[in-house]
Amino acid sequence: ETAVQASDVTKVYGSGDAAVHALRGVSVGFARGAFTAIMGPSGSGKSTLMHCLAGLDTVSGGRVTLGDTEITGLDDRRLTLLRRERVGFVFQAFNLLPTLTAEQNILLPLKLAGRAPDPRWRDHVIETVGLRDRLGHRPSELSGGQQQRVACARALVSRPEVIFADEPTGNLDSRSGAEVLGFLRSSVRELGQTIIMVTHDPVAASYADRVVFLRDGLTVAELRDPTPETVL
Ligand code: ADP
Ligand code: ADP
Repeated sequence: ETAVQASDVTKVYGSGDAAVHALRGVSVGFARGAFTAIMGPSGSGKSTLMHCLAGLDTVSGGRVTLGDTEITGLDDRRLTLLRRERVGFVFQAFNLLPTLTAEQNILLPLKLAGRAPDPRWRDHVIETVGLRDRLGHRPSELSGGQQQRVACARALVSRPEVIFADEPTGNLDSRSGAEVLGFLRSSVRELGQTIIMVTHDPVAASYADRVVFLRDGLTVAELRDPTPETVL
């Protein structure tokens, strides 16, 4: 079963002589319950692809579907709703609210959406994130790795169809990065979450089930069950 599908997606920034062809016909599917990494050199189109898949940006050509919904062509209002209700994001900057505790940060999206958390799922997420004794702490009292795990738990708690993670370990040292990647991987293994992660770090990519390589706006290779050595 496919969670997200890109079919012949193109993206052009600007026009005429100044046009940049960031994506030149990308077709790739992402299975439900899988952890996929997107890798490639700087400027190869990774962020552009992620933004098009997540409905943060519109495509120039081709189609993107999320589950059964073709998102290409949806207006801004519908895209905003779709992102809010069906997609989770983790960014390089943790984007936690400093005055709220870890637990309040995790539960905030549900609160804003006026949705009651499914108590079993919430407990699963909090168990998996491994911060039981830190739930009452504010972000400033947590390490970078702990803060990013809170941000991941916040993305997970509404049980989105897919989580998009853009360089989630970019601001972390390798030990904290490993904590976050371990949490993302256990959320796939133990909670069945679907994750699509952009990274340029081979160690980060090795936590995924599959790596898709981009170059010059095209997918050029794929690797299953990557290790840091095979990704390089
Ligand atoms: P990556 O994430 O792999 O570094 P990007 O998707 O950010 O690659 O960029 C792909 C190409 O598109 C690059 O040539 C980049 O300069 C260009 N690009 C990205 N965003 C914009 C934009 N908003 N306007 C113009 N060009 C852009
Ligand atoms: P950078 O690539 O400079 O590190 P980020 O990864 O934080 O920046 O964000 C990349 C893009 O994702 C931004 O240009 C912005 O449009 C979008 N973005 C960032 N944070 C959010 C958010 N919390 N919700 C929705 N979109 C966001």
